[in-house]
Amino acid sequence: MMRAENARSVVDGNAIAGLLAELFAQDMTAMDGECGGCGARAPLANSVVELDEVAAIVRCRSCTHTLFTVLRDGERLRLRIGSLVALEGP
Ligand SMILES: [Zn+2]
Repeated sequence: MMRAENARSVVDGNAIAGLLAELFAQDMTAMDGECGGCGARAPLANSVVELDEVAAIVRCRSCTHTLFTVLRDGERLRLRIGSLVALEGP
C-alpha cells in the first residue's frame, strides 16, 4: 500500500503575499513577542522602546535584549530583527 503524499508545495515568495498582509495588517502591539534571550513572552505593547526621529529600538522588558529595531530613512522603513524569535497573534 502506498503512503499518502505530503500536501506541501514548494513555490516562490509570491505565494506568501496574502499571509504577510494578514499578519502585518493587525495591531502589532497586541501580538505576543517571544524573546530569544530569556524566553519571555509578552505583548509588544509591554516592551521597552527607545525612540527618536530615526529609530525605535524595541527591547525585552525582562532581559533588555533588543527584540527588533525599526529604522526610518526618509520615506523608507527598515525592520531589523534582533532577539525576537516568534510573534503570535492575539
Ligand atoms: Zn528577554
